[in-house]
Amino acid sequence: MATDTSASSASTSANTSAPDRKRWKSRAVSRTVDAGNSAYCAVCDELIKFRARIRAEQIICNVYVKSRWDRVEHYHPDCYEQAGAPYGEPNG
Ligand SMILES: [Zn+2]
Repeated sequence: MATDTSASSASTSANTSAPDRKRWKSRAVSRTVDAGNSAYCAVCDELIKFRARIRAEQIICNVYVKSRWDRVEHYHPDCYEQAGAPYGEPNG
């Protein structure tokens, strides 16, 4: 009477967290502002400034038009929210 349990927990290969890379759609990420940042907010048209004291954040959006990358847009987090989060909730 052999009790073979060796294969019980070895193979769970399904990784459900893999992103769908085929569907290129616009998306937003939240990033800290680097020193020397020179991006202007797409809403208020002001420079998104690096500040040493606080970890300033900016929203960076990769904008796709007809499934092709078109441009990058930068936003102040507040401006992005006021604009109604046009590219969805930003991911950290
Ligand atoms: Zn702004």
